[in-house]
Amino acid sequence: MSINAALNIFLEEYPQALEQRFSGHSVADFIRNDVPAAVRDVLDVSDRYLVHGSPGQGNWAKVPWVAVYDRFITESAQDGFYLVYLVREDFKGVYLSLNQGVTTVRKVYGADAKVALAARAADYIARLGSVPATTVTGAIDLAVEKASSLGAFYEAGAICSKYYERGSIPADDDLADDLHQFVDLYFRLVTKDLTPTSSSSAEDDEVGLEQEDLTKLREHKRIERNRKLSEKAKKIHGYTCQACGFDFSRQYGEIGRTYIEAHHLTPLHTLKGQKVSLDPETDFSVLCSNCHRMIHRSEFVDKVEEFRARYVVRRES
Ligand SMILES: [Zn+2]
Ligand SMILES: [Zn+2]
Repeated sequence: MSINAALNIFLEEYPQALEQRFSGHSVADFIRNDVPAAVRDVLDVSDRYLVHGSPGQGNWAKVPWVAVYDRFITESAQDGFYLVYLVREDFKGVYLSLNQGVTTVRKVYGADAKVALAARAADYIARLGSVPATTVTGAIDLAVEKASSLGAFYEAGAICSKYYERGSIPADDDLADDLHQFVDLYFRLVTKDLTPTSSSSAEDDEVGLEQEDLTKLREHKRIERNRKLSEKAKKIHGYTCQACGFDFSRQYGEIGRTYIEAHHLTPLHTLKGQKVSLDPETDFSVLCSNCHRMIHRSEFVDKVEEFRARYVVRRES
């Protein structure tokens, strides 16, 4: 399926599907499987990006969506920011939108969530700097009926968007160009998100680093904070430091059980780009807290064996 066909299914077939039984419906399956596959075909940018489509859970959503997540930022529609195709409630058109996760913001801000989302969007827009003339920044119009519906929060959370009207959905080449353009905007914002602001204090291993190295170190740490990935890496590699053999449970007993730190092995200088390999088996090692700190200060940040030979084995002898 092409993206053009996918968007047309959203606008032409979804309204009728809404009248029918949700469970087992072919349109629901299209949105879960075929539409994300069409988006993935166009993207082709490594396993850094996840594509997920939702027609609703248990019942039809008023605003069905297909999202693209940068795994460095988020792996769900609940928080962070991501790209998403959002359909208007009146089915007059669909937006491609760089938008924000709503669930977490609603939990924190309650009744003021829309104000918070709009304020964050304004900050993101400022960080983005100039955007292509064909896009709009700020709030979008999803024609929501109820101010409390999820769509109303996506209206407020929009950072940068492009609108496609029913009946004049562009050809696939143009849709692909737009998608690439938005992935570039997303990537730009992800990179800017690492730029320290005056309010964020540098950690001690960041002091003295040039801006470029600082950004890379923060990117590296962000990969390691990806919970799902680091949990997988720990399950695969075990809970003993691969540099010095330290075992937290042997030293600390029960509170040290299954404690270890996941360390990503991509050399920092290659991190600059959208293609980053994130295989928990081959791209991660596990280290104790001391070795983890020290390997970052050493010349062997991506080579645990060399680090061990130079700094750990030598000390033991
Ligand atoms: Zn160690
Ligand atoms: Zn690390």
